[in-house]
Amino acid sequence: MSLMKAVVVEAPLKFSVQQVPKPALPVDGILVKVEACGLCGSDLRTLRSGHRHITFPWTIGHELCAMVVEKGDACTGSWRVGDRLAIGPLAYCGECDFCKDGRYELCENQRELGQHWPGGLAEYAAIPAACIAHGNIQRVPDGMESVHAAVIEPISSCVNAQEKANVSLGDTVVIFGSGPIGCIHIALAKARGAFRVFVIDIDESRLRMAAAFGPDGVIDASQSNPVEAIGVLTGGKGADVVIVATPAPVATVQAVEMARKGGRIVQFGGMPQHDSKPGIDMNLVHYRGLTIIGTSTFGPKHNMTALRLIEAGLIPVKKLVTHVFSLDDFVEGANLALAGKVLKGVFIP
Ligand SMILES: [Zn+2]
Ligand SMILES: [Zn+2]
Repeated sequence: MSLMKAVVVEAPLKFSVQQVPKPALPVDGILVKVEACGLCGSDLRTLRSGHRHITFPWTIGHELCAMVVEKGDACTGSWRVGDRLAIGPLAYCGECDFCKDGRYELCENQRELGQHWPGGLAEYAAIPAACIAHGNIQRVPDGMESVHAAVIEPISSCVNAQEKANVSLGDTVVIFGSGPIGCIHIALAKARGAFRVFVIDIDESRLRMAAAFGPDGVIDASQSNPVEAIGVLTGGKGADVVIVATPAPVATVQAVEMARKGGRIVQFGGMPQHDSKPGIDMNLVHYRGLTIIGTSTFGPKHNMTALRLIEAGLIPVKKLVTHVFSLDDFVEGANLALAGKVLKGVFIP
């Protein structure tokens, strides 16, 4: 049996790079050699405290750019050995009401590479037919670096969120949270035609990182009241769209308070399980005609758009990927990310 290097998480905060068996080629899927794999916020949560869909020991990683090295005899996709792929890790059932309606992001039986199948923080990964079936895999254009193609997954989720919120020409958009997701939202809102984009965080060093993405203003909520600040910045009108990309429940309360009449509030971030009922003033929702929208994950069309956005230079992935590590240095890199010192880290096996 041949071996490969892979990240193995044995328990919360106990992980290392180990030799493990190389995955077998799925007869109906493909075997890929990983070129780059990102580490995202949800991976950090899993490293810290585990995940409801994961039993340790386990190999995580769901933000992959990889090259096809073998194709199963029963694989029906058009993929060829040597193709470089950006892999949207979600598999949809194709049979539930939502899949039939084309709303894959709401699939009742969504599964994910790195959760239901071993992930991409390894030299090789097996991509089963389920991950290929609904077009969540894109060929990487020539010239696009693997470390940049690997971050297609978080961008896909942002594309879905802003599509649902219909971020449009002329909008004033406020984003809570200046992590990688907040930074993607800044660039995406501008690409969709928002005239002004403001970002709010309580961490000054993260706001400084987000400033590189060209927001029209940053607000440190540890220093000033963000609702008042947005009121001043919008001449008392409020924001057309507020995107909550932080788990802090107070952000959602404030998002409702700072939305303009007819405004849209997007709950992008999940909240802590036992603290997910913030005291929203529903009279504001009622009298101001607000719309509260929840989104998570994405569908294949969002994945396709995400790659095009990178290709068109509309999402500045060079600024997003602040750290590139060798997979051998995973422990060091992950600890740096766990300490909040990395905007987006990508690992190269
Ligand atoms: Zn991710
Ligand atoms: Zn489905």
